[in-house]
Parts: sequence; C-alpha cells; structure tokens
Amino acid sequence: MTHIEIRRRFINFFVKNDHLQIPSANLVARGDPTLLFINSGMAAIKPYFTGEEKPPHPRLTDIQKCLRTEDLESVGDPHHHTFFEMLGSWSIGDYGKETAVRLAWELLTSSQGFGFDPQRLYVTVFAGNDYLPADDETAKYWESLGVLKDHILRLPAEDNLWVSGPTGPCGPCTEVLYDRGEEYSCGPNCNPTCSCGRFYEIWNAGVFMQYFRKSETEFDDLPFLSVDTGAGLERLAAVLQGRDSNYETDLFSPIVTEVASGLNLSQLSPRQMASVRIISDHLRAAFFLIADGVVPSNKQEGYVLRRLLRRAMTHGVLFKIDQIGLFQRLSPVMAGIYAEFYPEVENPKIVQIMQEEYQSFLKTLKKGLNILREKIDLLGETEKGEEQVLPGELVFDLESTYGLPFDTQKDFAENFGIKIDQKGYQEAFKKHQELSRRGAEGKFGKVGEYPPEQIAPLHTATHLLHQALRDVLGEEIRQAGQSLTPERLRFDFTFDRKLTPQELSAVEAIVNEKIDRQLPVIKKKTSYHQAVKEGAIALFREKYKQVDEVTMYEIGDYSKELCGGPHVANTAELGRFKIVKEESVGKGVRRIKAVLERN
Ligand SMILES: [Zn+2]
Ligand SMILES: [Zn+2]
Repeated sequence: MTHIEIRRRFINFFVKNDHLQIPSANLVARGDPTLLFINSGMAAIKPYFTGEEKPPHPRLTDIQKCLRTEDLESVGDPHHHTFFEMLGSWSIGDYGKETAVRLAWELLTSSQGFGFDPQRLYVTVFAGNDYLPADDETAKYWESLGVLKDHILRLPAEDNLWVSGPTGPCGPCTEVLYDRGEEYSCGPNCNPTCSCGRFYEIWNAGVFMQYFRKSETEFDDLPFLSVDTGAGLERLAAVLQGRDSNYETDLFSPIVTEVASGLNLSQLSPRQMASVRIISDHLRAAFFLIADGVVPSNKQEGYVLRRLLRRAMTHGVLFKIDQIGLFQRLSPVMAGIYAEFYPEVENPKIVQIMQEEYQSFLKTLKKGLNILREKIDLLGETEKGEEQVLPGELVFDLESTYGLPFDTQKDFAENFGIKIDQKGYQEAFKKHQELSRRGAEGKFGKVGEYPPEQIAPLHTATHLLHQALRDVLGEEIRQAGQSLTPERLRFDFTFDRKLTPQELSAVEAIVNEKIDRQLPVIKKKTSYHQAVKEGAIALFREKYKQVDEVTMYEIGDYSKELCGGPHVANTAELGRFKIVKEESVGKGVRRIKAVLERN
C-alpha cells in the first residue's frame, strides 16, 4: 500500500465518521516557548485541549509534519529519523473510550481500512498503580470487538500512563502492536511485551485525557474526557509495505536512491550505509524546515537546521558527493513524494539556501577536516596498538572555530576507528559556557565597561521594545542580541524584511505609551516552568531549564522576561524613546538602534 493510499484511507475513514480534517501546522512551534518544533499531532492543537481556544469541530483529524531531534545521534541506524509525519484523530470532549476503540479496530482490520489480520494484532491497556485504577473499561471494549483475551496486555504506568508534565492533564492510553512474525523473534522467550521489534507498535489508538495531575500522587477528574490518537506514517508504511526499515518505504527510498546514485547500495559497508541514511534524513528534514521559513543561523530553529545541513554536508564530503548537484537533483525527488500534500517543498529558495550554506561552510569544513585528519594521523603514529582517543578539548576547539559539529567529528573519527573523549569535550563545553555567562553579565554591566545605573534605562527599554516588536510584527520574532552604551541601545531580532515606516512608528508609540503609564518594574524569583506558563519571554530556554530558580522582570502588565540585567524601578525614569535606525545585519536578522531623550 503506497503512502498516498495510507493517507487517503486514514483521512477518509475519520472524515466519514464526522471528523473535520484540518491542515498540518507549520513545523516551527509558534506560541509555545517550551517547544522549538512541533513534535506530535497533539502539540499543534494543544490550546483546544486546555480550553484556551475553541476547536472548529469536536472531532478532528489531520496529518501533521513533525520534527524530533532528541535522538539525533542515533540517526544512521535503520530506524531513527528526525522528520516524520503523524496521522492523528481527536475527540475533544465528544466521544470516549468505547467509540475510540471501535473506530481504531474498524480502521485497522476492515478491507476499506488497513486490512490487518486480527490474529496478528495485540493491544495494551493501563494496569493501574497505587493512585489510579486499571483501565478495565478499555480492556472490556477491546474484548467486545473480538480481541482475544491473551492479546490484551496490561502494562504499568511507564508504558501506558500518559502525562503532560509534572502537573497537568494525564490519563491511560491504549496501543496497538502488530506481530511481524516468527522470523523477527529474538528467541524462544519472545513475547508481546518484548522490545526486540517482533511486536511492533503501529498506533497509539487512544490517549484518554481524563485526569488532572496535581502532584506525583494526587489526581482529579477532568470535567470532560478527550481522546488523542497518533500513528507515525513512516512506521505504518514500513509494516504495510513489508519493509524492515522506514528508509526502505516509498517515503524515503527515492531520496536514498538519489543520495546513493553512483554508489552501489548493495555493496556499501554498514558505516557507509549509515552515512547515506544521515544525508537522506537530514536533507529531507532541511527541505521541510526551509519550506516552513527557517533559515540557517546560530540561534534556536536556525541552529538546528544548520546542524542538520552541516552534518549531511560533512558526510557528503567524506563520500566526495557533488553536493550542489545533489541538492538540485533532490528537489524534484522531494516534489515527487510530497508536493501533492505539501506544495511548499517545491519552493526554489530551498535549494538556493542549501547551496549558500554549503558554500559558506565548505572552506571552514575543509580546513577543519584537514586539522582533524592531521591530529588523527598523529595519534596513529604515537599510540599504535592502544585504543585511540581524540582529546575533547580539540574537538570543542574545532567545533567553535570551524563550525564542525560534535557529531560530525565523531562520525569522521569513527571512520578511522578512533573514539572521541566525550567527557573531555563536555568539560571544555562547560568551561566555555561559564566564560560566556560571565561575558553576558559583563554586557549587562556587572563587570562591564559601563556602570549598571548608566545602562539600566536603555536596557529596561529593550524589554518594552522586544514586546512591542512582537505586538506589531508577530509573536515569532526573537531577540538575536543586544548591546548597550549609556547613549544608545542596539537590539537585534529575527525578521525577514525591512520594517515599514508605519511599523516603526507603531513600535515607537507603544513603547512611549508604556513609559507614559509609569509602569513599575518588578523583579520576581520563580521557577522556569511557572515563568513560561505566565508567558514570559525566555531567551536561552535550554539554559534556564537547567536551573531551579529564574529571575523574571515584569513591567506592569505589559512585559514579562527572564533576565539578569540592570533595570530601573519605574518606566517613568526612561524619558522619550526614539528609534534612530533600522537595518539588516544578515539574512533574516534586523537591527534597531534607539535612544532615550530626556523630557
Ligand atoms: Zn523478542
Ligand atoms: Zn532585563
């Protein structure tokens, strides 16, 4: 069954059952400061479940573009990839467990659906724990549909209790496993709870959000029950197309074939095959990211894209692939698979941006790889026979000086049978972080060139400016840097075009209005989680997540931002805010220079 047919059958089935089909959201998570990329169908429509927004219909279905980068290091094996699509269906306070289970079974086993042999399907339900009862109800519904008793597995909370966080909605879930057959078995003791791959999860057929978790041990009932289902398209395609690896499905194989053109796929070593998969996965993800407006940069989404591209390019260099040509050839291949569903992948800008990134990376890459090569050769001479390890400090140096990502160097070194001293690398990384933290404090005047009281007014004004830019241009603009002198502020932010005079005067007017309102500037200690919940702007979210307590500055009811800089006590101290210049400082980054004039 082709991926096109899988999509069609899934969506048609739910539409026929009164679900409204909604389009895939952009890959970049908007309005959720805890998330860079949409990583599940649910993530894109979360406000419907929290009650913040009203859904267009109580029953929904879609196919959502997703990106997960937690397992980046594992990409290269036959199973991991970063970009994927998720087939999803939802009931928002509409039907409950009985209907959810019935719909799932019908879709999976009927001939208009996926036509699975019921004998090969197993389902899991929550076994209960000290605080919550077992989900006997769901087990009973599966049984009433004809699922054999010994095909219903009761699993503990780790497997079958879904939680959204330390507090928040949660509930039992039920998953469907497909028995791929004896030949996939790991041995005589293999059983449906085994993780060897014989019993393969094909669908999370229902997350039943029915409780609100107040603490580790306390749960309330939610006012209504909602159902969330999700299936990875590549995974389902692998099963329905009888493939061992998602890379062999029709969602990947044309890309893999193009990447490996000129190489004999069947004669590649496992390491070479891993390179082909890495290039295929990372470039596929990059096509989608750029199509959704991400450009390579050193911050946030842009940095993830840059890492993916550079890692793919490094493997391309190892293979001596003509990469400029490859990007061009992949364009129609991507369009062939995806344009029908995501016409944005045909944007000619994508190949252009990839080529530009390649050109700018190539010189440093070659220099970096040469140095790496020399060091590796040196190791070879001095430590013959022993296990060879590349010093972590060197790896960090090459990363910060030549932009050679850690994983790239690791792959490269492994090609020569050499390991990287990961601990040493992490130490070097920490040392560097400590230095740049001190540098940042310096910028805000703690040990810097200017006394804090001299730059506090302009720095406080950047908080207002930041929020005003978001109000005028959209929530997605992000601070990319700031620098202060007692005379002026410089504020860099992500945005892809010149601001109009109207936009500039609107921003200026908002800031001055807040100044006129004489808003108090209040410092609060809080948890990162709480700050984000209250909508605070967090610049280095990864950094803040690591610490228990963060400092948040509130300016009246207008701005909330995690910050460590010097601030005035009231906006009345600021004077008149005036933008003196707006300019570009690189692709997708704008700079505003502004001053405060005394009244
Ligand atoms: Zn097994
Ligand atoms: Zn601040």
